[in-house]
Amino acid sequence: MNSKSVFELILSGEIESEVIYEDNDIFAINDINPVARVHILVIPKKKIATINNLNDSDVDLVGKMIMVAKQLAYELGIDNTGYRLLFNTNDDAMQTVFHIHLHLIGGQKLKDI
Ligand code: 5GP
Repeated sequence: MNSKSVFELILSGEIESEVIYEDNDIFAINDINPVARVHILVIPKKKIATINNLNDSDVDLVGKMIMVAKQLAYELGIDNTGYRLLFNTNDDAMQTVFHIHLHLIGGQKLKDI
């Protein structure tokens, strides 16, 4: 549990990925395996394994993640055409990285993805 997540490795520069947004608490990257034309991950710098591990003290952080996703959607011009915000949690949702991240998916008509 103390090993670094892939997102922490990206943040520290140990794994290369262009950071497209960063502030004191949050950063965002393009997903390496996009499921749509726009597929961004909005990630807290603090590692929280799953949504189940959120505490009341994380409310502002999670709210801010949504605000960052909203702003990125606006900047990419997909705010009016639409997009999907998604947190996968544990096995049934096929969560693969145990450091919470908000998927921002759009740029095209989303069907069953
Ligand atoms: P999850 O399935 O946990 O909700 O989503 C994890 C996401 O992280 C996946 O969509 C996967 O493609 C993405 N991902 C995993 N490793 C890397 C990486 O090294 N770089 C980037 N940019 N995305 C990654």
